[in-house]
Amino acid sequence: MIARVSLEIALRKEFDYSIPPELAGQLDVGSRVQVPFGARKILGVVTAVAEESGHANLKPILKIIGAQTLVTAKVLKLARWIGEYYCCAPETALKSVLPEAVRKEDASWRERLFVRALPVTGVFPKLPKRQQEVWNIVEERREILLAELVELAETTAATVRKLEDCGLIAIANEISERDPYAKETILASQPLVLNPAQAVALEKISAAMDARVSPTPNSQLPTATFLLHGVTGSGKTEVYLQAIAHALEQGQGAIVLVPEIALTPQTVERFKARFSSGKLQTLVAVLHSHLSAGERHDEWHKIRQGRARIVIGARSAIFAPVEPLGLIIVDEEHEHTYKQEEAPRYHARDVAVMRGQMENAVVVLGSATPALESFYNCQKGKFTLLELPERVDDQKMPLVRVVDMRQAKRDGKGTPIFSPQLKEAITQRLEKKEQTILFLNRRGYSSSLVCEKCGHVCECPNCSLALTYHRPEQLLRCHICNYTEQVPKACPNEKCRNPGIRYSGLGTQKVEDVLGKLFPRARIKRMDADVMKRKEDYRRVLDAFKHGDIDILIGTQMIAKGLHFPNVTLVGIIYADMALHQPDFRAGERTFQLLTQVSGRAGRGDIEGEVFVQAFTPFHPAIQYARRHDFNGFFEQELEFRKQLNYPPFSRVALLTLKGRSEDKVKFSAEHLKRELEKIKTELKDLVVSGPAAAPLARAESLYRFQIMLRTRAMSKLSAALGKITTPLSLPDDVTLAVDIDPVDLS
Ligand code: ADP
Ligand code: ZN
Repeated sequence: MIARVSLEIALRKEFDYSIPPELAGQLDVGSRVQVPFGARKILGVVTAVAEESGHANLKPILKIIGAQTLVTAKVLKLARWIGEYYCCAPETALKSVLPEAVRKEDASWRERLFVRALPVTGVFPKLPKRQQEVWNIVEERREILLAELVELAETTAATVRKLEDCGLIAIANEISERDPYAKETILASQPLVLNPAQAVALEKISAAMDARVSPTPNSQLPTATFLLHGVTGSGKTEVYLQAIAHALEQGQGAIVLVPEIALTPQTVERFKARFSSGKLQTLVAVLHSHLSAGERHDEWHKIRQGRARIVIGARSAIFAPVEPLGLIIVDEEHEHTYKQEEAPRYHARDVAVMRGQMENAVVVLGSATPALESFYNCQKGKFTLLELPERVDDQKMPLVRVVDMRQAKRDGKGTPIFSPQLKEAITQRLEKKEQTILFLNRRGYSSSLVCEKCGHVCECPNCSLALTYHRPEQLLRCHICNYTEQVPKACPNEKCRNPGIRYSGLGTQKVEDVLGKLFPRARIKRMDADVMKRKEDYRRVLDAFKHGDIDILIGTQMIAKGLHFPNVTLVGIIYADMALHQPDFRAGERTFQLLTQVSGRAGRGDIEGEVFVQAFTPFHPAIQYARRHDFNGFFEQELEFRKQLNYPPFSRVALLTLKGRSEDKVKFSAEHLKRELEKIKTELKDLVVSGPAAAPLARAESLYRFQIMLRTRAMSKLSAALGKITTPLSLPDDVTLAVDIDPVDLS
């Protein structure tokens, strides 16, 4: 017998090895193995087992790692699809489906010493006082961690060992699982009575699951995928919870994807509370980037062993080895963080849809502001649309007022940060002891430092981007590469040296500063990447806000999602058009989504909410449709715009970015690549090749960037053709190429 192995080093090739007799029968597709490669020993995954190989003189597999196959055949198939569709080496795709902590041999179960009381036979020995005290504790607890016992009895391990010598206790190594949520006590929750719209949604999702488990010959299967479009606070999560319960009843598991930023303890608790007790009781595994390697190892194995049948996690949890898999939920499916920005550049929502098809599982995509692509798929009949048009308990949608900031301009003093309307609204909330959220999607104090005389802007020496002023540290910082420098005393331009430099543009620090001056008695807190360095910081501020210890919370996108605070009756969006003028065809869509999400934070309690949107282009459709909570209206007009320009969903995009230190070499390579790409046109008639052109972010981390954009309807075909062109493509040593299929970041 031989095994085909994909090695961890990227060679875009698999190798055959012989299976030595002592390993026969222990190894299967998906096993992790160690094999010789040249003089080295390398880790890999078995992708096939066969009778014989076309190659002679095979080297033997050295050893198998772990008792169980790590990658299931189904996940292996998914990884292959990712390699092909997203144009990356199969090894790279395989790596992404297994967390590093599981792939590497070193992280393992944590074994700890436990002390157990043994049945007392015969006469109980007379013990010295210290030992007797230790025994009393063990007898009462029956089983206890050695370390805990030593601490509790204020004794030493040697004293405990003496009891073992007397035959009173046994000390043994046992696996102790690391549970990232061990410290929390979670109260069980019961299913709620659904409102009619929720009930219809659940019924359709459940029916689709039933049809898959026991298909009747004549019935047609509904589509694989549902899009649950529900306004913020419409009770989508409750629908997810009950759909998962249905999957469990059928003996199947579920994966729930949420954006990393929404993976707050609040969210995890809701899922644990529902499934940690009762007749369907099962473990809920949590996978996200803040776990330690050991915790990740344990969570993953709980799933692989079938003990945890529900997984909640960020992007990469889509690869969790849940089997059998009945349901996949992608919450906030429009979120851009589902896209991985390094190879393999997969989109977890699209992978979810593919995995659902492959494993015959039902997929539910949920959002208050679905991605244009997903909503269009409903129109085309690919997905089934489910709608929750109203908030639970008939709460009204907040009243949104758009403030024209061009009129707020004061003579000779420029535009203030706060319009008189927003200032007045904040004053009222402070008087009524209600809470306010202020949103601005830029951290720092000022977004640039400009010379008043020559117009010089302080830019990052490594990136084509203005440096942001951070006031607490008195530094200028690059938000791309994190380069920092001292604030100059005069214009850095040698010929100018004018001491009159001014800060322009604004960030959350400045909002906090100005707000503090306007409302000296208000309790204000800021929440952005600069102040929230650790997970606990985030939690602490949210707890304080919940308890009413904060009047006004200022923040970046960190506060845009998923937060639910009944006492927030006012939301102010400081600068709504900030994202609108970026060179990206999704700029309008993004602005609409952000405004809708942020507005959704207002009025989640009994009192109606109010939102102030400050904008310099108040009549832009993205702002106006968001004001009216009119998703369908926005969708129709945005779709028309995309159609005219042949952008998704009317085509699919592949973005090729070349990077290097020498601008000439990068440009030259891009032109060479373009000539190769033009040749594909004979196979793909609708292919449009644009560029090469300098990327919107022309230089980052000292590397020049050029882009070529490809558009076609037949992306799978294009991916295959791209693989054929880029694999043998020879580029200068210091020029690299990144292929991004269905990109979300065009910079
Ligand atoms: P969404 O996920 O759409 O933003 P949630 O599921 O978080 O909405 O629901 C908002 C609030 O309404 C939650 O506190 C939830 O417990 C409550 N809720 C949801 N469905 C119901 C229901 N059928 N009856 C009563 N309360 C509900
Ligand atoms: Zn930089």
